[in-house]
Amino acid sequence: MSKRTKWDTKGDLDESKNLPIYQHKATLQQAVKDNSFLVVTGETGSGKTTQLPQYLHQAGFWSNGKIGITQPRRVAAITVAQRVSQEMHCSLGREVGYQVRFDDCTTQDTVVKYMTDGCLLREILADPVLSQYSVVILDEAHERSLNTDILLGLLKQTLSSPDKASKGRSVPLKVVVMSATLETDKLSVFLGGCPVFTIPGRTFPVTSKFSCAIGPKDTESSVYIKEVVKVALDVHTSEMAGDILVFLTDQQKQIFQPPPPGIRKCVVATNIAATSLTINGIKYIVDSGFVKQLNHNSRVGMDILEVVPISKSEALQRAGRAGRTSAGKCFRIYSPAFWEKCMPEYTVPEIQRTSLTAVILTLKCLGVHDVIRFPYLDRPEERFILEALKQLYQCDAIDRRGKVTRLGELMVEFPLPPGLTRALLQAASLGCEDLLLPVAAMLSVENIFIRPGHPEKQKEADKKHRQLGVQAGSCNDFTMLLSVFEKCKASDAPSAWCKDNYIHWRALKSAFSVETQLREILLRLQKKRDFPMEKFDGNKSELFRRCLCTGYFTNVARRSVGKVFCTMDGHGSMVHIHPSSTLFDQEAQLDWVIFHDLLVTSRIYIRTVCPIRYDWVKDLLPKLHEVDVYELSSVAREEVTDEEVAKWMTKETAKRQTEGSAEAV
Ligand code: ADP
Ligand code: MG
Repeated sequence: MSKRTKWDTKGDLDESKNLPIYQHKATLQQAVKDNSFLVVTGETGSGKTTQLPQYLHQAGFWSNGKIGITQPRRVAAITVAQRVSQEMHCSLGREVGYQVRFDDCTTQDTVVKYMTDGCLLREILADPVLSQYSVVILDEAHERSLNTDILLGLLKQTLSSPDKASKGRSVPLKVVVMSATLETDKLSVFLGGCPVFTIPGRTFPVTSKFSCAIGPKDTESSVYIKEVVKVALDVHTSEMAGDILVFLTDQQKQIFQPPPPGIRKCVVATNIAATSLTINGIKYIVDSGFVKQLNHNSRVGMDILEVVPISKSEALQRAGRAGRTSAGKCFRIYSPAFWEKCMPEYTVPEIQRTSLTAVILTLKCLGVHDVIRFPYLDRPEERFILEALKQLYQCDAIDRRGKVTRLGELMVEFPLPPGLTRALLQAASLGCEDLLLPVAAMLSVENIFIRPGHPEKQKEADKKHRQLGVQAGSCNDFTMLLSVFEKCKASDAPSAWCKDNYIHWRALKSAFSVETQLREILLRLQKKRDFPMEKFDGNKSELFRRCLCTGYFTNVARRSVGKVFCTMDGHGSMVHIHPSSTLFDQEAQLDWVIFHDLLVTSRIYIRTVCPIRYDWVKDLLPKLHEVDVYELSSVAREEVTDEEVAKWMTKETAKRQTEGSAEAV
């Protein structure tokens, strides 16, 4: 180690002693020793996430088991683990490590483990009392992610029944729940009135200014992006020194033009910067007022990523980021009327707005049969629970009495959406998992197709992608994924191949790793004696598509007129094939299709599409067919023009949005 790095490390350590949490080290160590449950709260940046696990490590908790810290976001789990491993002078993956879905960076030496809440939930499945841990810290509980909420309920249930809690453990488990300064009393009451430790804050005043650019009627994303750019540039030219933090929704960051470099830092971020990660030196906030959020859309019966107004409490969190080191300013690009009319008081917890299918299956596999009376911090609507049960029943994961089937027990082992898992297991039972494993992996990583901003390059990329489609033979979006996976894998120079074909090499590399991991899970399950096996006589293309149908039968659509398709799941939504599909512009030749997911803009688009024959879905799942036979015939036969559908769609979208914000309030 060079002198210089030694000096740097010392600097870091001193810095951690300046954090507000440092003065409470001994009290916190004692409080965790004295209580089964403890709620810890404090302003963002006070040192909760990076310091408390180290304090517990120093207090010797590691000798009874790991110290686990959950994060709702994978990026946060990885970055924080990196930071803490530096502070503890160890290489990442040794004493300090992290685990997120499909990426495990831990070893036998790991005693401080950062992970996503989803990973801990999977561990509970295999080991309900978490015997490997001495302390579990549920961080960012105020975010109210679905998995953290479920973990809260499960740990409450386990620890409040002494029999269950001590089984298989030598010392009792300690649970710490950490949260920004929101809802802490509610958390404490939920956890049986446990103590709340508040780290006294150190914040400076932030003045907030509204603008009239975004009013209650402006919900088109193009409007707010322009305005955000304008305001950020204004701040840059007219405000004193200090860095800028801009809150946008994910993909728009590409079009954002940063101010000239070298003068000041301008960070463009999503919600993650509100509390999960601390960026030093921020003095100005530009708040777009929007966030990209996964919402369950009961009209189409699926979760959809939507751009929606943030809540007032989220806006306050965002503004607070400007006051960490000195007084700051927050520029809101929306009007006071937008604040009043469009922004709900609080963000609706994920458990009340997304599909519960995977989580309900997990609960059932953990022996929680009464999923309606499970201790939820905020109860999801009963119809969401019933919808999840219906979906689990439809894909044979539970039986008519709500008991988990053999297939359901296999399905819960895969960190994939239930439909995709069902298709994969079907393929495995027919001995053709090699067709579905790569597809499942490709659907689990970020988008693999590069879409360049430059129009000429875009044309070139489109051409290359089309060629890949043609080479894939029987063309649909699933075979396309399979073909890209196989071609790249077989290539001598895979990264050059990707560059040449406008494919993200990094995404494909992840897909290779994900495929291996899924294959390992499958092999482990196949070794069990009663793994189901079936026979099929037909060609490979039909076999492949029929396996897909087994999982995606709920996502079936039939072309009604022109380029408009109608979904057959009882919701009868009018949908279009997304322009990124290999089947785009070939609609006239299609009749029945299945699809992986939906994208809602002014229209509803279906993405990752595959043509099928009605016979295949009809025979596969009479459950769906029986229920929806009426709608299937009436809606599909109706003569509607594109214009009419578009008009109807806009009205419906508007209605849904007002309903949505009413529910949120
Ligand atoms: P909290 O969880 O209370 O919001 P953190 O423990 O995340 O606080 O952060 C405490 C301090 O540690 C921050 O003020 C920041 O200065 C520093 N810090 C955290 N993560 C990093 C990182 N990845 N790189 C540099 N500094 C960091
Ligand atoms: Mg934190």
